[in-house]
Amino acid sequence: MTETEGVSGRSAVVTGGNKGIGAAIVAALLADGHRVASFSRGGDAPEGALGIACDVTDAAQVEAAFKAAEEAHGPVEILVANSGVTKDTLILRMNDAEWDLVMNTNLKGAFRCAKRASRSMLRKRWGRIIFTGSVVGLYGSPGQVNYSASKAALVGMARSLTREIGSRGVTANVVAPGFIETDMTAVLPDEVIAGYQASIPAGRLGVVDEVAATVAFLASDKAGYISGAVIPVDGGLGMGH
Ligand code: NDP
Repeated sequence: MTETEGVSGRSAVVTGGNKGIGAAIVAALLADGHRVASFSRGGDAPEGALGIACDVTDAAQVEAAFKAAEEAHGPVEILVANSGVTKDTLILRMNDAEWDLVMNTNLKGAFRCAKRASRSMLRKRWGRIIFTGSVVGLYGSPGQVNYSASKAALVGMARSLTREIGSRGVTANVVAPGFIETDMTAVLPDEVIAGYQASIPAGRLGVVDEVAATVAFLASDKAGYISGAVIPVDGGLGMGH
C-alpha cells in the first residue's frame, strides 16, 4: 500500500507491546498490515513484531530503539506510547521515588517517544501519535495520585501536539481505557475489582482487544480528522469526564 492510499503498511512503534493491552495493540496493527516494533525492557515481542529492548525512562535507550526500529521498518509513522506502571498508595504515604517512577515512565517516557517520533512524522507530513491514558486521568482514583496525574498530563500533551503539529498531517490522541483485565489489574484485591465492576455501566471488565481496536482505528487513515481527543474504552465508567 502507498502512504497516500494509506490503508496499511506503515512503520509503527508500540511501547509496552510485549504484554497486556500493548500486545493486543501490536496484534491489531499487524493485522492491519503495519510493520510493528515493540519496545519493552526485556525486548520480547508478540509473534510477527520486532522486539526491541528499551526502558522508556532512559533517553539514550529510546533513541537507540527508534534507530533500530527505523533501520528495520523505515521512518516511524505510527507511535503508540503505551508503557505504564502503577505505584499505588495514599498520598500521605507516597514518597518521591513512587511519584518519580510513575511520572518518568508514564509521562516522560511518552514525551521522549513522541518527540523522537514526531521528527519523521513532520518530515513525512503524516503521523499518528496515540497515548494510552486511563479513565482515572480525568475521573480520579484514591491511592493513585501519581498515576492519575501522569495520565491526565497525557491529555495536555496530546492537545498541545495537536495545536503544534496538527497542520502537518499528524494527529495526537489519548485512548482512555477503563478497567481492563491484564496483569496490571490482576494484582488488585477481589473486593476492589468487585467495587469497580458494580460501578461500570457495562457491568463487566473490558478486554484488551477492545482497547486495541480503538487504537488501530486512530492509527488508520480514516481517523485523520480526529485529534486532541480522549476516547474512552471503559464501558461507560468515566462518562462525562
Ligand atoms: P501491563 O502491566 O500488562 O503492561 C505494562 C507494559 O508497560 C508492559 O509491556 C511493560 O513492559 C511496559 N513498561 C513498564 N515500564 C516500562 C519501561 N520503563 N520501559 C518500557 N516499557 C515499560 O499493563 P497493561 O497492559 O494493563 O497496561 C498498558 C497501558 O494501559 C499502561 O499505560 C496502563 O497504565 C494503561 N491502562 C491499563 C488499564 C487496565 O485496566 N489494565 C486501564 C487504563 C490504562 P516490561 O515490564 O516488559 O518492560
